[in-house]
Amino acid sequence: RRANWSPVLRPKSTAPKNFTDYESMKEAYRPRVPARFNFAKDVLDVWEAKEKAGARSSLPALWWVDEQRTEIRWSFEELGFHSRRLANVLSEECRLAQGDRVFLILPRVPEWWLVNIACLRAGTVLIPGTSQLTPRDILHRLQVSEAKCVITDESTAHLLDAVGSQCPALTSKLLLSTRGRQGWGDLTALMGSASADHVCVDTSSDDHMTIFFTSGTTGSPKMTLHSHCSFGLGELIVCFSLIFNTQTTCFRYWLDLTDSSVFWNTSDTGWAKTAWSSVFASWTQGACVFAHHMPRFNTSTVLQTLSRYPISTFCTAPTAYRMLVQEDPSRFQFPALEHCLCAGEPINPEVMSQWRRLTDLDIYEGYGQTETVLIAGTFKGMEVRPGSFGKVSPAYDVQVVDDEGRVLPRGTEGNLAIRVKPHRPFCLFLEYMVPPEKTAECFRGDFYLTGDRGVMDKDGYLWFIGRADDVILSAGYRIGPFEVENALIEHEAVAESAVVSSPDPIRGEVVKAFVVLTPEYKSMNQYELIRELQAHVKRVTAPYKYPRKIEFVDQLPKTVSGKIRRVELRKKEWDHQM
Ligand code: ATP
Ligand code: MG
Repeated sequence: RRANWSPVLRPKSTAPKNFTDYESMKEAYRPRVPARFNFAKDVLDVWEAKEKAGARSSLPALWWVDEQRTEIRWSFEELGFHSRRLANVLSEECRLAQGDRVFLILPRVPEWWLVNIACLRAGTVLIPGTSQLTPRDILHRLQVSEAKCVITDESTAHLLDAVGSQCPALTSKLLLSTRGRQGWGDLTALMGSASADHVCVDTSSDDHMTIFFTSGTTGSPKMTLHSHCSFGLGELIVCFSLIFNTQTTCFRYWLDLTDSSVFWNTSDTGWAKTAWSSVFASWTQGACVFAHHMPRFNTSTVLQTLSRYPISTFCTAPTAYRMLVQEDPSRFQFPALEHCLCAGEPINPEVMSQWRRLTDLDIYEGYGQTETVLIAGTFKGMEVRPGSFGKVSPAYDVQVVDDEGRVLPRGTEGNLAIRVKPHRPFCLFLEYMVPPEKTAECFRGDFYLTGDRGVMDKDGYLWFIGRADDVILSAGYRIGPFEVENALIEHEAVAESAVVSSPDPIRGEVVKAFVVLTPEYKSMNQYELIRELQAHVKRVTAPYKYPRKIEFVDQLPKTVSGKIRRVELRKKEWDHQM
């Protein structure tokens, strides 16, 4: 099968078709970045034209449902129609110029996608935020970004009103609501009266497109600036390689979408992952983006939705898979589901094998950051090696390097890094706008350091050790929390766990595990259970890694996006015992 596209990327040379290895294919097809690029014009409008010409499947481009089973299905033509009207609202009613910033806080409602596209068309820089931001977060984001416009709904409007007077740059506010609000423009009414004629602005590939905030797993979220080509073309590279995958055995596109796929990605609208999966990656391939307006992640809603709708491709966080396997998905039939993925955190091999047993499907892991597109992944057709997130994505040259940026031999633990010299990948963030000093800190030698530690094995598979700050140094050993957590979750008493360092007078630091028990084990004698879990870890992994300290907790501290905040547990541990 062929990716149905596209005028934008062309091979650099007429390279031979008989590649013997993936590296030579990648070099031969290293894309040239066009000087001008705009995802709305160069991708969405192409699909709209294909749709009109009958050259695309009959699936909607956006298929939205809510808990009352209300549905909205928009074709590319309808997305184009509504988003052009909204682009006119931004330029005319809100008087925004190209480069002006728009702060968007909306849950998973169809208008969220329209604002994304309208900003591309109008050339305004989008700053998405989650609905769970506090007034302090909102004030901080508005002030540092100097956003001129905010778009939100009633759940957040009062918070914006409370801080708006301290944001002199803010000149317009749009509200998605059936009731009006003083000082706010009515988004739906303004769109209704706006013209649907709009000429997409002409953006250069490196014009600013979006400002994302990182998840804040290790500290305050960083304000990360991306260009138009970064996410928009970064996805294309991955897809472009698909065209040639018949010549190579080691690579197929991670999400593996076509215009016949229905793709449900569950991440919150505030995160880069949603833009990446539910806007750029999906629509690059002309796939149908499925969205469920689920105010809270609810396992039975997820399982019912997978069984009720023709969802072919599903991506959620490892935390969510841990919850889903506890619900026994084998009670359901998933007639269309053929490809399951996860990203954002490491997934425990035990959870992968449970999911496989219960659904007959593998989980394909992806590894990326707010700062990047997909860095590595297990691609369809590749052997799944549980515990490894797969091989390097074609977007980057990824190496394991030491702290000075020197490449380490295969099999050695080091920093996961992306080569930025002599070619800086265009699908990498431009800078941290806040805090700016962090930008320089993450470049070392010829590399951008991801802040994560890992190992590349002889076959090119990457194995995650942990975030650099999370690695435990005990009596001369370096211990990655992920491996210990994987060992713990193999025990049926463990629903999930977080492993951190804890101070120790002799060893400096020791391994401590915070464990959430499965319901059947909650009432068991805790002293015995600790002994049993310690013996279990010694049995399934190198004994020096076993947790000398174990504490049972009801839940683990997590970010809004569901990532475990080991930093919080570690800080408490050290503050408490110093
Ligand atoms: P912050 O940078 O604010 O502390 P964050 O790093 O969690 O937060 P994101 O950009 O959302 O913010 O997440 C990227 C990070 O998530 C990666 O650097 C890595 O640590 C982790 N991650 C993503 N995917 C995986 C994966 N498949 N396996 C292991 N870790 C992953
Ligand atoms: Mg990070």
